[in-house]
Amino acid sequence: MKVIDHITKAKKSLFSFEILPPLRGHDIKDIFSTLDPLMEFNPPFIDVTYHREEFFYIKKDNGLLQRKKISRRPGTVGICAAIMNKYGIDAVPHLICGGFNKQMTENALIDLNFLGIDNVLVLRGDTIKYENNFLSPKDEHKYALELVEQIQDLNRGKYLDKTFVERKKYPLFNFCIGVAGYPEKHFEAPNIEKDLFFLKKKVEAGANYIVTQMFFDNKKFFNFVKKCRSEGISIPIIPGIKPISSKKQLNSLPSRFYLNIPNELVKEIEKEKNKKMVSQIGIEWAIHQSKELKNSGVKVIHYYTMDRPENIYKVIKAIY
Ligand code: FAD
Repeated sequence: MKVIDHITKAKKSLFSFEILPPLRGHDIKDIFSTLDPLMEFNPPFIDVTYHREEFFYIKKDNGLLQRKKISRRPGTVGICAAIMNKYGIDAVPHLICGGFNKQMTENALIDLNFLGIDNVLVLRGDTIKYENNFLSPKDEHKYALELVEQIQDLNRGKYLDKTFVERKKYPLFNFCIGVAGYPEKHFEAPNIEKDLFFLKKKVEAGANYIVTQMFFDNKKFFNFVKKCRSEGISIPIIPGIKPISSKKQLNSLPSRFYLNIPNELVKEIEKEKNKKMVSQIGIEWAIHQSKELKNSGVKVIHYYTMDRPENIYKVIKAIY
């Protein structure tokens, strides 16, 4: 079932969460042991992130450096298929622009269609380590908007090159498309208005719903929704929540995701000496945020597990 149908048919507030593919060399059992405890709550859908290849350098015998490319977290599509097969729950693979030319994207969508996966979360993708800006070669998409357009073309039966489509009647795909939104604005956007201008373009191109970047102050989310609505963006907006789990994250989350953490939460965490209690503070904050969002009528809350499913379990147990 499509995410948008889960949302529109929901009689009560739902939740979803996203998991990361395990590091190269790990097992699908790692995914199942993350998911098994969360199945108690019947999640309607689960997202699986996509991580593009990384470059690293090794020193050769002659002293020169050799550049190597590796996917440290491969397996997104396979994991989605395994989730759907084992749990009968809809899986949402993240699809990114970075590292995919248009033909590779079309092939990936054909694979997803064969696997019965008709949901995707469409993103530009993170910048490669060691690169300051997101660079896209000529035959790759530069913005998520272009990827939404390519998927919608396929939904209408428009392949990249019809010469090679050996059927008179093209199979119509029917992907439900989610896109990202940023309550505290995307870090590259000059201001929130410009960011919303491009968010609206993704919606006009056919996005069905928005999932937000994590935030720790619900006011930011409520303002964002208000601004979206006044700009004419009317599709569902799913808030993204993450419980802070360590002191280190007080700095790492803002530097990685360009967000603010309210002073009250910062102070509470800073004065705590016990690591477990820091995690507990993060869980309680996320519970408080979730309760307020749920009471405000939000239909789905999306949780970022970031390899800490046990914390998400505690939050969901308290809310759902
Ligand atoms: P875009 O919508 O393309 O926007 C990027 C920037 O360009 C914005 O500043 C926007 O205002 C601007 N812009 C957009 N369109 C145009 C245009 N036509 N002309 C000029 N400027 C424009 N990253 C991963 O690598 N893998 C993942 O699995 C992943 N999952 C994520 C899930 C969620 C819910 C979120 C919020 C983020 C996720 N990310 C992931 C991170 C994401 O890839 C980065 O935040 C990336 O920097 C931007 O992605 P986007 O899709 O929002 O980009």
